[in-house]
Amino acid sequence: MKADIEIAREASMKPVLDIAAGLGVDAGHLVPYGHYKAKIGLDYINSLRDRDNGKLVLVTAMSPTPAGEGKTTVAIGLADAMNRLQKRASVCLREPSLGPCFGLKGGAAGGGMSQVVPMEDINLHFTGDMHAIGAAHNLLAAMIDNYIHWGNDRRLDLRRMTWRRVVDINDRQLRQIVTGIGGPANGFPMEAGFDITVASEVMAIFCLARDLQDLQRRLGNIVIGHTREKEPVTAAEVQAPGAMTALLRDALAPNLVQTLENSPAFIHGGPFANIAHGCNSVIATETALKLSDYVVTEAGFGADLGAEKFFNIKCRKSGLVPDVAVIVVTVRALKMHGGVARDALDEEDVTALEAGLENLGRHIRNCGQYGVPLVVAINHFASDSDAEIAAITTYVAQRGLKAHLCTHHRDGGGGALGLAEDVISLADSGRAQFRTLYDDHLSLWEKARTVARAVYGADELDADQKVRDQFAQFEEEGYGHFPVCMAKTQYSFSTDPQQMGAPSNHRVKVRELVLAAGAEFLVVVCGDIMRMPGLPRKPAANNIHVNAQGQIEGLF
Ligand code: ADP
Ligand code: MG
Repeated sequence: MKADIEIAREASMKPVLDIAAGLGVDAGHLVPYGHYKAKIGLDYINSLRDRDNGKLVLVTAMSPTPAGEGKTTVAIGLADAMNRLQKRASVCLREPSLGPCFGLKGGAAGGGMSQVVPMEDINLHFTGDMHAIGAAHNLLAAMIDNYIHWGNDRRLDLRRMTWRRVVDINDRQLRQIVTGIGGPANGFPMEAGFDITVASEVMAIFCLARDLQDLQRRLGNIVIGHTREKEPVTAAEVQAPGAMTALLRDALAPNLVQTLENSPAFIHGGPFANIAHGCNSVIATETALKLSDYVVTEAGFGADLGAEKFFNIKCRKSGLVPDVAVIVVTVRALKMHGGVARDALDEEDVTALEAGLENLGRHIRNCGQYGVPLVVAINHFASDSDAEIAAITTYVAQRGLKAHLCTHHRDGGGGALGLAEDVISLADSGRAQFRTLYDDHLSLWEKARTVARAVYGADELDADQKVRDQFAQFEEEGYGHFPVCMAKTQYSFSTDPQQMGAPSNHRVKVRELVLAAGAEFLVVVCGDIMRMPGLPRKPAANNIHVNAQGQIEGLF
């Protein structure tokens, strides 16, 4: 098979004006970025408020393994398949970060015959949103330091500053640094550090904001540090939210591109799935729902993290109501959950696969708690055997669900028609009775405990007294109504990445709490969380270059 980038380069893209016209959007409401990318104007989006929404389909997955699952490709293949069935369907995805593009994982524009294009643009600078978010974040950092330099009226405690800087490159060297050295003209020496841009709270805010006013209000609520008396100080107190919003104004309009099969694709916002909620922007999803009959969207990592946050944070906060959820599995990942080593995945092993199915079983049970009809998509790999696929289908049928073999990676939308037909009929059935897992009024501790027990299968949530006190303090400070944003390993239901399958008799320990007062959730950290990845020994960047024809090569 050809490399993803070759397939993408050979795509017969339509001008983005035509893609917009297919959605009923006039050229006058678009801000084109070249011929194949455009933003949809916010004024126009406002004018759509009274329209009915289309059906919303979430694509989530079993617990990920290095063998790969394929949520993005399934989401794209499903939207293409629906369009082949003459339905008006769009796909909503996150914007890729440069970190993984040049690091280990590669881009995030799908793969094989299920991709969004122009692939190089989407993976690299796209329409500049990522840079705008980084600039807004770093402007706040500069304004805080400047506020301190000119007198620090609020008596911010320089030892308790929480706002770091960001850059959209994997750069471990910047994780922990000292700034402001070299004398009084250079400010005050302080411990500081960089996170990757997608880990910024500004990114999470950007993805949850309803409009520009809501964006500015949330930016103002960011807690930047504490006073000597341990009182929180906000971004509004250093008068930063107006200028930050100005930097983000254009970026907040969602981006429209297309799939290889010319289906509309909204790609906008891309927060981390551990310390943030891992979904594309609310504005993009809402816009797609106003303009399409079916919208397929993806949430990061497995369903214990991605779907949980999609339902309990994104849907709760935005009022979005999902109609169907698709759980993606692969034979390879199921075998890994059943104990097969990564280098032995090409061999048939029905016994191991059957052992690994308990991972899927728990995700099915969990997703059932949200009242949304479910369907399983088997993302087909060349090494899968018929017996292995049959074992999945049987297991899923025993749970009253259907599993569809999807060959979209090889065949495009034509490889996901069965899945599409089923998703359409489930969405149209009106069977969904969406509910979140917990109520707003439950205490923050009880919310985290509910997720640990009902989703991770843990016996109990644990924390040292210091962390318990912090929970209580956030309640007192008035944040008790926030949802929790759980940060834990994506590889296991437990907090130990080695425990594959469906571990039980485990406990979840909360290590740390991070308040995201602007994003309006409390990050509950239950493990080592990386906010600034490093590059591997042989980064993808080593093989990326521009060829003699001026084309980019080596992106995947
Ligand atoms: P996720 O969204 O779950 O992270 P992606 O859809 O981005 O997964 O897929 C991860 C990688 O695996 C991509 O490089 C993609 O091209 C590749 N991939 C996905 N499905 C298949 C498949 N069926 N066969 C071969 N490669 C695949
Ligand atoms: Mg993905």
